[in-house]
Amino acid sequence: MAEKYQLPRGTQDFLGSDVRLWKKVENIIAEECDRYGYEEIRTPVFEHTEVFKTENDSSDMVTKEMYSFEDNGKRSLTLRPEGTKGVIRAFVEHKMYGNPAELPKKLYYMGPMFRYERPQKGRYRQFHQFGIEAIGAKNPLLDVEVIALGVSISRRLGIKNLRLLINTLGDEESRNRYRQALKDYFEPYLPQLCEDCRRRWELNPLRILDCKVDKDSPCFASAPVMRDYLNEASKEYFDKVLKALDDLGIEYVIDDRLVRGLDYYSNTVFEAVPVDAQGQQAAVFAGGQYDGLVDYFGGGPLPGIGFGMGLERIITLAQENGGLKEEERAIDAYVIAMGEIGSYGLKITQRLRDAGFNCETDYQKRSLKAQFKASDRLKARVIVILGEDEAASQTAVIKNTATREQFTVKEDELVATVEKILKGDN
Ligand code: ATP
Ligand code: MG
Repeated sequence: MAEKYQLPRGTQDFLGSDVRLWKKVENIIAEECDRYGYEEIRTPVFEHTEVFKTENDSSDMVTKEMYSFEDNGKRSLTLRPEGTKGVIRAFVEHKMYGNPAELPKKLYYMGPMFRYERPQKGRYRQFHQFGIEAIGAKNPLLDVEVIALGVSISRRLGIKNLRLLINTLGDEESRNRYRQALKDYFEPYLPQLCEDCRRRWELNPLRILDCKVDKDSPCFASAPVMRDYLNEASKEYFDKVLKALDDLGIEYVIDDRLVRGLDYYSNTVFEAVPVDAQGQQAAVFAGGQYDGLVDYFGGGPLPGIGFGMGLERIITLAQENGGLKEEERAIDAYVIAMGEIGSYGLKITQRLRDAGFNCETDYQKRSLKAQFKASDRLKARVIVILGEDEAASQTAVIKNTATREQFTVKEDELVATVEKILKGDN
């Protein structure tokens, strides 16, 4: 097949059984969000480029990985690389900040995201994220609720080997002090660092710690740690987060090096990574608190907290943990039509469908044997067999595939009989 007719690099087709599996996961996620009081929001897949390319964001995602294009009206648009900024844009655009009684506004989203990255296992160019945002309240207990929701979903998917890494970036004052300390510390090492890190040193030295190229370089090991630059308020905040996690029985590991890839985080940041993770595409969900983003879009100085979860990664992990099995397709009834019976077979099929059963029939004039095989493959619990006699007398032969019993019913008794068999009292 010519390359131009194949999947673009880093994308995937989801076929029948994949989709069944994904829907199951999506349903679990929606149920959990409902329990925690998060409502779904659906924002466009593309936004004005400025929505993502905020002035204070020097992350790789924004500087290198965006799919941006000009539309016919000469606007620069970008396929969303992540969910948070579109949600904040919508939060402000719809003035959700207007009613303090409804804060924090708790929202979730799910859908495709796009990043121009080197495709590999667990890393795609079109991937799918589920994420939540709680906007308009700052409370260590809210941070913990957000984390708990991510943990609940992982548990329901049977994932036992996730490790929660947590850190604090402190408030602005603490972060400024830490930034300066990092700048001073890394200055003599600048010639050894990668080009990106030299840029980060200028723009946001915290992000040097997130570098995937330099992270094993010896100068990283003795770099200053955030903990030593936290003011009292920031320390107290973090302690409350940890205490609440303890109270909820959520295990965590404090990771001094965790700064997260995006630039807008403050205070609590976290990442859930498989215990035996190797390589660079391990984080299953990750997030933190952000200050300033709502204000940036014009909604006033409201804080937010949230996370993004990679659905490809969590589904793979759930399958590896044995917590998620492929769903086989199974139908209620299969209608076998033989001989010259016109539309009688389709009419019976329709009657069963109208009654709420999922029902399949044949359109290839296959032999009786082939149709029985098809009903078997679809795991039909009832087989309805129609021939010229049945069509003439407006009847149907019904076979209960569990008991192998077979009998004839009048067309008008068909639905009630199938219902009985499916309920198991026939
Ligand atoms: P990474 O360090 O793996 O590049 P990130 O910091 O860029 O992750 P976030 O922006 O925090 O990731 O996105 C949240 C989650 O989305 C990640 O934890 C991961 O599960 C998933 N994710 C991010 N990029 C990709 C991708 N290219 N393909 C598949 N999943 C991804
Ligand atoms: Mg990334």
